[in-house]
Amino acid sequence: MNRIEIFHVQERIGTVVDGFWGPKSIAACQNHLKNMMPVPHPFPAEGSSGFLDFFGPHGEKDGYTPPSKRIKLPFTIYYDQTPVTSLLVHEKCADSLQRVFQKLATIYPNDGSREAAGILVYNGVYNPRKKRGSATSWSMHAWMNAIDINAGKNGNKTSWPVNAKMPIEVMECFAQEGWLAAGAFWGRDAMHFQATGPV
Ligand SMILES: [Zn+2]
Repeated sequence: MNRIEIFHVQERIGTVVDGFWGPKSIAACQNHLKNMMPVPHPFPAEGSSGFLDFFGPHGEKDGYTPPSKRIKLPFTIYYDQTPVTSLLVHEKCADSLQRVFQKLATIYPNDGSREAAGILVYNGVYNPRKKRGSATSWSMHAWMNAIDINAGKNGNKTSWPVNAKMPIEVMECFAQEGWLAAGAFWGRDAMHFQATGPV
């Protein structure tokens, strides 16, 4: 984001508008999003004792697949050039993701605004793999409870918001359903949203 865009995020999260994204802004942003989340939180935290009870085992390539539900999207998104009109999501958070997309459709009412926000670029839900760089820990994508959006401008190693583009308003739509935005909570990988409680 450029300086003006960072001003906008700081204004929106209610912190000092100085264009400097430091510990104060990071904390204010996380609190801003946490305050929008449903109480009680609908999902267990990643790695918590309740996580496996709630979501069950992760998927395996050519093996077990978590129970899923297909949701119909209110607008068409694109995986490379392929139009995507529905998504298979873990059944415990599918309705929730559907509501996220309905909120996105409302605040970005046409394809022009959706394109500008970067939300027409879809990069996947289900992927039964370990976390990048980890030999043991599984990606939330292996549970079908995570989605990647606009990866090209919100990379795994790209810091948010200074070098990444994900709008705070998109993160808010996810937060209202209890989904964590990686950009706000880990400061990078801003493409990534997951249905887990804050830690
Ligand atoms: Zn992801």
